[in-house]
Amino acid sequence: MLLRLQSSIRPAERQAVDALASSLGYGLERLGGRDDLVLLTPLDSVGVTPGERAGDAARFADLTGVAAILDRGVSRELWQRGPDRADTVVRAAGAAFGGGYVSIIAGPCAVEDEERLLGVARQVEARGATLLRGGAFKPRTSPYSFQGLGQAGLEMLSRVRDATSLGVVTEVLDPRDVEAVAAVADVVQVGARSMAAYALLKELGQIDKPVLLKRGFGATVSEFLGAAEYLLAGGNERVILCERGIRSFDNVTRNVLDVGAIAHLRRATHLPVIADPSPAAGRSDLVRALARAGIMAGADGLMIEVHPAPAEVHSDGQQAIGLDEFDAIVRDTDALARMDGRSLCGLTRDVDRGAAALHPR
Ligand code: PEP
Ligand code: MN
Repeated sequence: MLLRLQSSIRPAERQAVDALASSLGYGLERLGGRDDLVLLTPLDSVGVTPGERAGDAARFADLTGVAAILDRGVSRELWQRGPDRADTVVRAAGAAFGGGYVSIIAGPCAVEDEERLLGVARQVEARGATLLRGGAFKPRTSPYSFQGLGQAGLEMLSRVRDATSLGVVTEVLDPRDVEAVAAVADVVQVGARSMAAYALLKELGQIDKPVLLKRGFGATVSEFLGAAEYLLAGGNERVILCERGIRSFDNVTRNVLDVGAIAHLRRATHLPVIADPSPAAGRSDLVRALARAGIMAGADGLMIEVHPAPAEVHSDGQQAIGLDEFDAIVRDTDALARMDGRSLCGLTRDVDRGAAALHPR
């Protein structure tokens, strides 16, 4: 890695660069008599794999007196899109996210009743969803609110999964439940409230299942990517980022769907990015419009809360949409994805021909 130091760098700041280099195991060379260019070479004698480790460049960049890292491409964080890096495509059951593939995850907010879960699953499956969502462990603002059915909910999801072609996306809240959730889930969800639960992220870095990481509602994009880095650094390369709305000053919507962040992330990272318009809107009448906005900003998929009887559910009923609205969202997504030369995975009805068509994966 090549550093350019500021011409105004003070001796103590220069010493801090030297000290960090030596503590991280880098040899340091001032180039060609120029004091401002410093070449750092990883040394293998310190017991680490030769080669720069992810995150090292950022530590040097943070030091006062360092003007720039001139060859960041050599040492980038794992989420970064390099010039040589193709999109990561994350596949699960019949879904694929990224690299031109768009998929839809749909279902109730929480698993509440098995018969109803199976009913919703069959309905969204017939309309083009490839993954079923539903929380067995629910993060609730009040400890007295419905917390989810836990293990019984996981078992319901597992049976519904077996009865349909859908894979399952469900949330894990506690590192102690990772094994049980990963045994049932095709994709393990980290909710917005757990985005910075680093002990949980470290556990999920070790599992052999894709992870859907939601952005915290108060998290910057850089903090969001830092959380993704925990998963990647742990060895789990199947990470799907999910923008679900951030908190702002207006309460006309529950959150603000940050479409700028979606567009930015599609450029900045090779990881797939999806939009979850349900908690962003917080009201069912705006979900379709936000879903369209998410896809047009470049999202590689959608997560949508769907329920045929929203008045009867324990959590997030006001943002759940009905089946007709879901149908419209699938048709929108199919059309918008095609506009960009992308394709929607799963069975979608071809509205023009009125026939079912299986889109390519
Ligand atoms: C959910 O998916 O039901 C959920 C709790 O979402 P979020 O973590 O985005 O609030
Ligand atoms: Mn919800």
